[in-house]
Amino acid sequence: MNEYDTHTIQSELVAGGHELAAHPADADLLLLNTCAVRGKPVEKVVSVLGDLRKQRSEGRDVTVGLMGCLAQLEEGREVAQKFGVDLLVGPGAITDLLEALEEYGSLRSGERGGMIERLGFGPELHDYQPPPPRGLSGFLTIMRGCNHHCTYCIVPDTRGPEVSRAPESVLREAAAMRAAGVAEVTLLGQNVNSYGMGQPGMPSFPELLRAVADLGFERVKFTTSHPMNFTSELIDVIATHPNVCNYIHLPMQSGSDRVLRRMAREYRIERYLAIVREIREKVAEVVISTDVIVGFPGETEEDFQATLAAAETAAFEQAYMFMYSARPGTPSYKHFTDMPREVKVERLQRLIEAQKARSLAANEALVGKTLRVLVKDLGRDSRYAVGHSDQNHTVLVPAESVSSMGVKDVTITGATPHALYGEAVGAAPHGIELVMAS
Ligand code: SAH
Ligand code: SF4
Repeated sequence: MNEYDTHTIQSELVAGGHELAAHPADADLLLLNTCAVRGKPVEKVVSVLGDLRKQRSEGRDVTVGLMGCLAQLEEGREVAQKFGVDLLVGPGAITDLLEALEEYGSLRSGERGGMIERLGFGPELHDYQPPPPRGLSGFLTIMRGCNHHCTYCIVPDTRGPEVSRAPESVLREAAAMRAAGVAEVTLLGQNVNSYGMGQPGMPSFPELLRAVADLGFERVKFTTSHPMNFTSELIDVIATHPNVCNYIHLPMQSGSDRVLRRMAREYRIERYLAIVREIREKVAEVVISTDVIVGFPGETEEDFQATLAAAETAAFEQAYMFMYSARPGTPSYKHFTDMPREVKVERLQRLIEAQKARSLAANEALVGKTLRVLVKDLGRDSRYAVGHSDQNHTVLVPAESVSSMGVKDVTITGATPHALYGEAVGAAPHGIELVMAS
């Protein structure tokens, strides 16, 4: 989502007559598009801003803007003030950036004082300057914000309530991407499957997905799905549209009902596993990935065991696993006590070990099979060209055996927990030894 926002910011700037610098060191305007979902990315921003403050104190003339989720938070404003940031522009105000820059420019000569701020969210998703498609795959935002209130999560504060983009606007951008040669489109939102809800006259997500798929992309992906509203109708659209990719990211967060309740996730683990079962029954060769948080306040060893067990039952092929990060302003930060870091680290390691074994077994089962792979990077500087299968596996193919990007049939010859190695069908056998990384 941030990558898409960054491209949108760039295209707004270019439309406003600015030019993109080849390197940050050449720029006279530096905009940091930030993430605030966990503490780590915030620490990174602080370190970059510290660096910039030093450069400015040594005479570099550069305007600095803080954008993205951190900009929207009190925590972000404090950081921005501390480091002398010039512009503070939230993720709901990207379309106000040019105007903010103009205001800043007009002040520059004279009484420049405080920061120029553009925060908050308009009532609707503006028809902004869509980023020009780059390469074979592209992102497409279909909605903004989140109406859930998971107790650990800062997103409702940074991105505001859910607003879905008008279907005509989504389809117009999708058609332009298709016409520009984009083969793979990823529909983006915090909870794409609640697309259109609460806005009269809007199509449902399955309907929108069908309409985008009918534009003829090689592949249509979407992220993120919330288990609420992950309906049988949606599963049927995935199952019956060959170009809707058979990869589903479905955050579980925890396998313990007690923890799910404290997280204010609106489903219980039985319901979650029932969705996974239905997906596996209906969608051929599907890959399911998930998000899990370990060490949520009050999580007992028994709760954690329930998470390990649920992950095993769901047989996730991939997972993004996080230690709970207490985010100022969230309900869990205010009301619960963080647990010792060692406990979180230890649980995370156990979960990662279990997942690695599952991912490796799932990937090894593909050795000898032929997958459709969209090669997006020819690996000019490395030994491997890189692509993704319809199930979102990362697939590496010897660079000298592929001469063009696009969809190739690839026979899988090796596997690690995170990637597959393969040979393009019809390519001459290569003489490179297989590297087994883990
Ligand atoms: N809207 C999506 C996810 C958005 S954030 C959803 O609900 O599924 C992406 C992931 O970051 C979440 O799924 C969660 O696993 C993780 N996350 C969010 N807040 C976190 C926190 N405070 N600490 C650790 N992980 C967090
Ligand atoms: Fe955060 Fe929960 Fe909304 Fe996802 S559904 S963005 S985790 S509040």
